[in-house]
Parts: sequence; C-alpha cells; structure tokens
Amino acid sequence: MSSSSLSYVYRPTTEEGIIDAFEDAEAFGLPVALKGGGNSYGDAFQCPEGIVIDLTRMTRILEWSPQTGIIRCEPGVTIEQLWQYTLPDGWWPPVVPGTAKVTIGGAVAANIHGKNCFAVGPIGDHVLEFELLTPTRDKIHCSRTENSDIFYAAIGGFGLLGVIFSVTLQMKRVHSGLLKVEPVSVASWREQFSAFERLTGGGQADYVVGWVDAFSSGASSGRGLVHGAWHLGPGEDAHPEETLRASAQALPDTFAGCLARSQLFRFMRPFVNRFGMRMVNAAKFRSGKRESGRIHRESLARFSFLLDAAPNWKLSYGKAALVQYQAFLPIERAPEAFDRIVGLSQDRGMVPLLAVLKKHRQDSFLLSHGLDGYSLALDYRVPQKARDAMNSLARALDEIVLENRGRFYFAKDSTLFLGAPAAVWGEDAVAEFLAIKRRLDPESVLQSALFTRVFGTVAPPSVSAPAEERPQEWEQPSTVGADEDEVGPPPWALPGESEGKPR
Ligand SMILES: Cc1cc2nc3c(=O)[nH]c(=O)nc-3n(C[C@H](O)[C@H](O)[C@H](O)COP(=O)(O)OP(=O)(O)OC[C@H]3O[C@@H](n4cnc5c(N)ncnc54)[C@H](O)[C@@H]3O)c2cc1C
Repeated sequence: MSSSSLSYVYRPTTEEGIIDAFEDAEAFGLPVALKGGGNSYGDAFQCPEGIVIDLTRMTRILEWSPQTGIIRCEPGVTIEQLWQYTLPDGWWPPVVPGTAKVTIGGAVAANIHGKNCFAVGPIGDHVLEFELLTPTRDKIHCSRTENSDIFYAAIGGFGLLGVIFSVTLQMKRVHSGLLKVEPVSVASWREQFSAFERLTGGGQADYVVGWVDAFSSGASSGRGLVHGAWHLGPGEDAHPEETLRASAQALPDTFAGCLARSQLFRFMRPFVNRFGMRMVNAAKFRSGKRESGRIHRESLARFSFLLDAAPNWKLSYGKAALVQYQAFLPIERAPEAFDRIVGLSQDRGMVPLLAVLKKHRQDSFLLSHGLDGYSLALDYRVPQKARDAMNSLARALDEIVLENRGRFYFAKDSTLFLGAPAAVWGEDAVAEFLAIKRRLDPESVLQSALFTRVFGTVAPPSVSAPAEERPQEWEQPSTVGADEDEVGPPPWALPGESEGKPR
C-alpha cells in the first residue's frame, strides 16, 4: 500500500513457464521482476509496465527426509505450507518471519530473519543449496562450496540475479508444538535493552522480541513489553503427538468467541490513527505490566505469526499507505540512535503506530542487513497528503542510521534513496554484486522498481521481436522511474561501455 504499479503478470508452474516469460521479456524489450507472496512492504517485487513473474503456483515439495530434517522444495511453497508438512514429523522452519504467508523463494531472496536471529542468524545460514535460473536460461547449482560467490550474493539479492528455483533447507528439530513464553514489562529503553541482554545471554531464550510504545516520551521513552520464548525439551510436553499436529496450531476462526477473524480489520480501523493507537499502546503497556513474569505455554504458530491472527490487517489503514522503516544499528549505538529516531518522529508529528525491537547477529552474505546489533521496525500510517513529510522524515532518519554505521533492509523499505547500497555496504561490495549481476544477467532483464530506485535506472533489454509481432501496447514501453534523458549506462558498465541502450 506504499506503492503500486501495473505490470504484465506471468504465473508459471514449471521451468518452461519461467523461460517463456524471459523470452517474451527479451522479445518485447521489457524488464522483469520476480514475485513471491508479495509480502514485502515496498516495491521489491514490482516492475511498472514490465513483466512480473509470480512464482506462487510453484508449490511442490520435491524431497523430504524426516530422519535428517532436510527438505527440498519449489520457490512458491509458503512458510505455512512448509511447517504444516514437517511439524507432524517433529521439524519446524529454522527461521520464520512475522507472517507465514511468505514463500520460501521470497524468504531466501530477502534473507529473512526471525525472532531468533541473535542466535541462529538469517534463513540463509540454514540453506544448504539452491538452483538459480538466470535470464540467460542457465540453471546454476549454488552452495557454500559450488558457485559460492553466487550463493552469498543471491541470498539477500532480492531476485536481481535470477529465479531461486528450488531450495534445500535444514529444518529445526522440535519436541513439542508448544513454546514456553515469558513476558517482561519494561519501563524505558534501558529496561528494554537489559531485558534483551538477559534473555539472549546465559540460559539463552530461543526467541526474543520487544514491543515498544512509540508514543511514550521523556523518562518512559522506550517502554513496552519483551517476550522471551523457549522450545520444550524432550519429555517436557506430555502429549507431543497432539501438539505437533498441524490442526493443533490453527488459530481460532473467531476473536473473543464472536467476531470473525476475517472481519477483524474492520473493528481495528477506527483505532488505526494517532489518537486511537496512543490509547491502544497505553492499554497494552498497562496489561503488559499485569502479565509480566507469568510464564505460560503458547503454540508455535500463535507466538510466531501474531499478525496472521487478523487476516488483511493492513486494510485497517484505510486509504492511507503503510510505510515501514526498519533501522539496523550496531549494539553499542542502538539505544541512543533508536531514542533519537523515535523522538524525531514524534517531533515531526509522525508517531509510528507499531514499533518492534529485535536482536541480530552478523552473517556472511554480500548485501546483508544483518549485523551484531538491534533493529527497530516502525510502522507509519501515511495519508496521501503526508507523503512528502514522510519522505523528508525518512531522509532525516537515514542520516541517523548512516552516521551510526547502521544498515537497512530492502524487504521493509519504500523510501530509500538512489545510491543507498554504496552508502551502506561500500562501493566495493556493490561493485562485486553488480559484477555478478552483469555475468548472470548481461542484458539487465531483472529490474524491479526497488532496483531502479536504489541502484539506478538501466535501459531494459533491447527489443528482439520483429515489429509486426509486437503487440500494439508493447510497442513503446514508457520510461519507468526516469526521464528518457536520464537513462545512462548500466551501473556495472565497464570503462568504455558508457552508452546506455536506447529504449
Ligand atoms: C506481517 C509481516 C511480517 C513480516 N515479518 C518479517 C520478519 O519478521 N522478518 C523478516 O525478515 N521479514 C519480515 N517480513 C517481510 C517478508 O518476510 C519479506 O518481505 C519476504 O521477502 C516476503 O516474501 P514473499 O514470498 O512475500 O516475497 P515478495 O515480497 O513477493 O518478494 C520479496 C523479494 O524476493 C524476490 N523473490 C521472490 N521470489 C523469488 C524467487 N523465487 N527467486 C528470486 N527472487 C525472488 C522478489 O523479487 C523480491 O525482491 C514481514 C512481512 C509482513 C507483511
């Protein structure tokens, strides 16, 4: 809801279908973006007036070993389909995001993190291998030892190098469908971070997540509720055969016994504004104080996928856009920088309605958002008339993040500026990524709206179809995201190759 575009959408079910789409892109000179479940908060899967290859119909589980927990599947399999398939055998995905509607292809392309990132890293750390189908129709087998440069670039490469075609993943052994959960009420930023350090330190919890009341200020700034959760060990669950059943994880169809979950967003709508959410946040903080310390058990799905309990929750934003801004900061800089980020949002009258804190660890992927530190994800409700104000706030927040050596995450981004990748990862890392792209996608077929926004505009592939075969409306693909004059050399052009292709 933060951006929209019109595209030609292909929904292949086979390798041939994907190849057909690439052939059409080549024939008609159109750029291509890849789409999984469409859960990214910005334009990572969009391709205005180009082709979007939607991979959600490629949902086959290709191999599964209940002995080793190794699974190989097609990219459109969702996290939900994955755990429903493996949980009865005692295996759970090693990393899950806040919604189970994400596909495995989208998860690997974004290198998603979960509430256990501080301990186990992002999903890429659990991928054993994958096949990448490039726009040149090559299928490349990638692992830590085979084509390892592509392995470390395509995980977190946001679909810019090729289609992640099949993924082999190591699942996590679990002995129960339940988690032991401890809520901890915290009255300030200092208490937030000390609860995290305690829960992620000795006697380490498996998962930790913090909710922050972004309306709080002064001494109570950063107040909220932290949840730590532990898997149950062997023998701790008296009836694992029951709790491991997929049906035992299902969320009830109604909320509070009467309101259909599918209609919950209508009930939420009157509260999703500055005044309503100030009340909701204050009430949540008060109820959190009562809950604090009461250790209880919760199903894996309920703890992990809180927002799935209210399907279509984003519709509660009405006509306004939902802009998420997630800042990643090194551990020693995070407390002060997050306080500044929330304070500046308040000063500008744009208080995030929801704020979520997580702890991360560094990983080895090329353009990774992961670092030894914390992230704060902020949800802003942005009516059309406040878009400029949001963009100006985002620029000011970018400065705070960059001056503190922080990072961003494209899955959550819709505001980052042209040149942001070099500012975050440095010129060398970006040059390395673009050199790999140049090798795998020499015609720069893969160009999502995200790509042109942060890496720069590149001419789409040249038209190869004879004029009489081109559909009328494809005759002149309009300039997307830039004036014709602005179409320059591809950012990976070698010296001497400075001419951008004519559109
Ligand atoms: C409610 C909610 C909670 C979330 N919580 C978290 C969280 O806790 N942690 C987290 O890390 N993220 C989180 N996210 C973000 C989400 O996990 C990522 O955006 C993820 O990439 C979405 O996957 P998708 O299948 O919907 O892919 P899409 O959003 O459709 O695409 C994501 C990217 O992957 C690329 N892509 C998709 N499929 C393929 C493929 N087969 N091959 C190559 N590239 C491909 C696309 O081009 C795009 O760049 C959350 C999102 C929502 C809506």
